[in-house]
Amino acid sequence: MDKEQDVIVAKSAGFCPGVKGAIDKVLELEVSGKKPIYTLGPLIHNKQVTDMLAAKQISSVDRPEQAADKSGVLVIRAHGITPAFRAEVMQSGMEVVDATCPLVKHAHDVISTYAQQGYHTIIVGDGGHAEVIGLLGCTLGKGVVVSGPEEAQKLPHFDKVNVVSQTTQKESVFFATAEIIKSKADVCQISNTICHPTKLRQSETMQMAKSAELVIVVGGKHSANTARLALLCKELAPQVLHIETEKELTPEQVIHAKNIFITAGASTPNWVINQVAEWVRQTRKNRGLSFTHFIQKLWAKLVSSSIYSAFAAAALTYVCMKLEGLHFHWPEILFAWFFVYSLTAINRAYDEKPHSFPKIKWTIWYTAAAVALALAALMSWQAFLLTAPLLIAGLLYPSRHFLKSKILSLPGTKDFFTALGWGYACAFLPAFVNEMLLRKASYLAVFYAVLLVFMRSVTLGFTSANKDLMVGKESFYKAFGIGKTKLAVMGLLTALTAVLATLLSITWKPGLVAMLLIGNIYTIFVVIYYYSHSASRGIKEETLIDAQFFVLWILAWFSRFI
Ligand code: SF4
Repeated sequence: MDKEQDVIVAKSAGFCPGVKGAIDKVLELEVSGKKPIYTLGPLIHNKQVTDMLAAKQISSVDRPEQAADKSGVLVIRAHGITPAFRAEVMQSGMEVVDATCPLVKHAHDVISTYAQQGYHTIIVGDGGHAEVIGLLGCTLGKGVVVSGPEEAQKLPHFDKVNVVSQTTQKESVFFATAEIIKSKADVCQISNTICHPTKLRQSETMQMAKSAELVIVVGGKHSANTARLALLCKELAPQVLHIETEKELTPEQVIHAKNIFITAGASTPNWVINQVAEWVRQTRKNRGLSFTHFIQKLWAKLVSSSIYSAFAAAALTYVCMKLEGLHFHWPEILFAWFFVYSLTAINRAYDEKPHSFPKIKWTIWYTAAAVALALAALMSWQAFLLTAPLLIAGLLYPSRHFLKSKILSLPGTKDFFTALGWGYACAFLPAFVNEMLLRKASYLAVFYAVLLVFMRSVTLGFTSANKDLMVGKESFYKAFGIGKTKLAVMGLLTALTAVLATLLSITWKPGLVAMLLIGNIYTIFVVIYYYSHSASRGIKEETLIDAQFFVLWILAWFSRFI
């Protein structure tokens, strides 16, 4: 539970495992270059996610015949489908990927088992809902859907009946309905198929909504489970708002409530919940506009526009030049700034919504790339020749699927290429243009920069995944999972510390190395903090993670006095 400004965000808010698994599957297909991708019905009832999927050319069809390109992939969404429809889909000739949630599959199995023994099935759920249609298809033609106790009262008598539930049903409704059906049957099997994540969400909501003055339920207006959650809250809290994004809120709605509880449906991405929570907290903090608010907004702009990362790269260049024994020289520092700024901003825009960025921003980013190239040319023609293909490769990286490049889509490549790019700009090029490349100090600086930036990139990827950003398997964390990522990062940190400690023991630039060792403590702190908390990527996370380069820069500068 995350509490600040008397605003509590539900621990259970956000994608349920079934929805997250389905989205991951589709994105992995997209990243692997399989196109076109069709989902059988909208993958998720959330406009922000469907817009993002549409931007990636992942569209929804109701039936295989509607797919324009039969060489594409058909994805069965988390809700599942009926066995009859499944057989039809399998015969469509298209590649089929099944993303049915295992907990929905379990409900299918429960229904089929009893139906084969001659039981009637009563499903407590929403008649037209995709999941319920799928469940009904497993009843061997002996199924009925009821929405609750009232409709159950109208049911006839049954000899053998199996009562099941839509996985997102409210528990109290299910049991009240089951009790009525029990009184109408000779044999009544009550199969509670409400899934565990839904139970957790409901019990947390019931506990928290009771003591909140205002409950904000975030999620699609067409999402059944979000609507059900909002209904549940209305029974418990004096004021409930069901919104899709923070844009639907006004300051008046949130500044007066003593305390606020924010929860969300299973189809709401964490980044949308975080945006709402952030907006509510900021609005409550700044009841009346203040200078601090202005500074915070300005800072958020600096970080999200990649300008902050560019300064971090400039700081790292200073550190590497010190390691290489080079004098401070503006062109190398400026080169790193423009190189990292252009590539980070462009790749970031592609990771978000490329079409939503105005032309002026693209012009600025490409101009920054051109400035980096011009600076390289000013340093030497060889630097220009080296930089040009690297810049082009970095600018083309977001189009790797279009280019069908297998190498660029390999697991973990995003973090690896980011580290190489920074290593080139911050350590390799300064040594190259100053003809110091073949010295041990230069190898060491390149190695140091690549390791540090690789850890930074992996950690940012990890926090992005917490935010449900659409990260693909090029991100190390997504490709190798949490266990291996932690192990790799800890291994790299140990290697880095060991290298610095060895240099110190042989008194190689002792002042500078001692300072970098101290700086390493900050990096260790950041890494441990983010791998032990499931913090989502935000302005604070990016600020703290990239701050390591500024810490190193300040310490490297101070080393002159030792
Ligand atoms: S709500 Fe439950 S059953 Fe439905 S997709 Fe999510 S985890 Fe699976």
